[in-house]
Amino acid sequence: MVSNITTPLSETIEIPVRSGLGFKLEKGQFLTVIDPKGGQVSDLLAYNAQDPKEVISSGRTLDYASRIFLTTPDPLYSNRSNVMLRIVEDTCGRHDFLLTPCSKDTFRIIYGDKEPHQGCFGNLAEALQPFGIDADCIPVAFNCFMNVRVDGETGELKVDPPTSKAGDRIVFRAEMDLIMGLTACSALQSNGGSFKPIHFRIDDHKR
Ligand SMILES: [Zn+2]
Repeated sequence: MVSNITTPLSETIEIPVRSGLGFKLEKGQFLTVIDPKGGQVSDLLAYNAQDPKEVISSGRTLDYASRIFLTTPDPLYSNRSNVMLRIVEDTCGRHDFLLTPCSKDTFRIIYGDKEPHQGCFGNLAEALQPFGIDADCIPVAFNCFMNVRVDGETGELKVDPPTSKAGDRIVFRAEMDLIMGLTACSALQSNGGSFKPIHFRIDDHKR
């Protein structure tokens, strides 16, 4: 686990399998989340750096988009209806904003694990703790590359393997100073049955 890192600009940073980290992203900077091997999900959280009680909101964002599948140039809103991030590039085109970060309880309830991994939730809680953000303040994450299919009639949800190919990326522009949490997801079902790393990069200018 790495957290509270000083993130070097324009350098590719690896998030190892089944882990996560926290970092700052300044207004106007670009965050590129890359799936280096293909088929790997990355949970993304954003908090207002000046007031972390303002947090990314699935409910607000989906409400204003009137869609559950988001891509370029959709904005991601906070619980206070401010735009936190905008999707400015997306080579995959399929992400999820419905499901909470996988957790000990996910693995206990869905997978029946006796000694469950702490999952993205535990990894995010650890990574955000140095920023003064409590585990109870972790909402639904924007799940990059997660492929959740929805039956339009019954509303049934099905978690399919990601459609992302090696090198696929999604790029966000920060619309305020942010504290970010980012993971390489720990749930077998979400990641097509194997765990891979995630890469990311912060740039001052769009590349
Ligand atoms: Zn996860």
